Amino acid sequence: MTLMEEAGRGRMPQEIDEVAKREGLEPDKLARLVARGRAVIPRNAHRGVAEPVGIGEFLMTKVNVNLGTSQNLDSPEAEVEKAAAAVAAGADTVMDLSTGKDLDLVRRTILDSVPVPVGTVPIYQAAVKGELTSQGLFNALERHAKDGVDFITVHVGVNRNSLERLRQDPRIMGVVSRGGSLTMKYIADTGEENPYYSEYDYLLEMAREHELTLSLGDGLRPGCIEDASDRAKYMEFINLGELVRRARAAGVQAMVEGPGHVPADEIETSVRAMKHLCDGAPLYLLGPLVTDIAPGYDHITAAMGGVIAGMAGADFLCATTPSEHLDLPTKEDVMDGTYVTRIAAHAADLTRPGVRERARALDLKMAKARAELDWDGQFQAAINPARARQIRHRRGVDTDTCTMCSELCAIRLAKEAMEKEKGLR
Ligand code: SF4
Repeated sequence: MTLMEEAGRGRMPQEIDEVAKREGLEPDKLARLVARGRAVIPRNAHRGVAEPVGIGEFLMTKVNVNLGTSQNLDSPEAEVEKAAAAVAAGADTVMDLSTGKDLDLVRRTILDSVPVPVGTVPIYQAAVKGELTSQGLFNALERHAKDGVDFITVHVGVNRNSLERLRQDPRIMGVVSRGGSLTMKYIADTGEENPYYSEYDYLLEMAREHELTLSLGDGLRPGCIEDASDRAKYMEFINLGELVRRARAAGVQAMVEGPGHVPADEIETSVRAMKHLCDGAPLYLLGPLVTDIAPGYDHITAAMGGVIAGMAGADFLCATTPSEHLDLPTKEDVMDGTYVTRIAAHAADLTRPGVRERARALDLKMAKARAELDWDGQFQAAINPARARQIRHRRGVDTDTCTMCSELCAIRLAKEAMEKEKGLR
């Protein structure tokens, strides 16, 4: 039985107990959410995740970090190091998107070295090996499944209708998803349907056998503000909603991926529509970036969109780095992207049903430490204690206030004034 089926029959797999404990949720409630597909706990049958993660309703917003080699920069060691850095910075999951030479080596080393769920995109391997065929796509998927990958992105929402839709409603940026564009290439080269879509029942059988969680990829995500919220995007969500239902009926856990570049005032509509069309499946967002004109700062534009999306119901945010649109991220970029995305996830959690009290308790801890000018307490409450400590001490000035207002510290002056006034009463 899969985890989803076990949960539906009232059994309590270890992963549900562990996640429920960490999230402060009743195990029975989490089991019901998993059984209904409203939450997922990625877990490959061959791996055993040391730190299982729950994604979905009534759970804290989670953060994924992408890494992986490219054909220009092909150092497996560097990518494995980035995976470790991302986890140290608080990533809940990592995805290996390698397209360099030895994809198997990078994937297997990451699977062996991080305790969190690992995701991949098998179509990349088929493309890199020159096997962009139906057999090649399923071979790649099986290879990743047997290696122990916990969740995979499959661009099942892209099909022959998608090409027709894009022809009728052209976009400025066309298709910017790598997996989406490879799927379109397959359809255009062969004249045949996307194999992951036309043979979806077979895909579900494989996912079931290896207990893969499916991340139904948004191959038609908009790549610029001008293309946001078009017909192609919504048509894909309708497809994905139907495919979510089929996954659930097969006992396979599924989440849905969303865009992309979306102006701030369209994010809430977009998120609510995706949730509605996909029967409340956990929603995994790549951004959304709220403007196109900030290369070098796209971890920030994505975090702005991530907060709005999280407030509207997104469950899982994919970290964007300062290198987005420009270069393969460095380890430092990956860490910056991870922290900034964690801040966005936490800001959303401050408003999120079921988790806001726990999230607010963290802010309260910081506020109390600030009110007391308790610097160690502030570092402990900080999302990145090392960075806060480094900035506080970088000039070597060691006073009980900070160098911002020094002797005119508002917190201290106001406190002294209140104490004096109390003494006069
Ligand atoms: S000196 Fe100013 S900025 Fe620094 S702790 Fe006091 S009030 Fe805050």
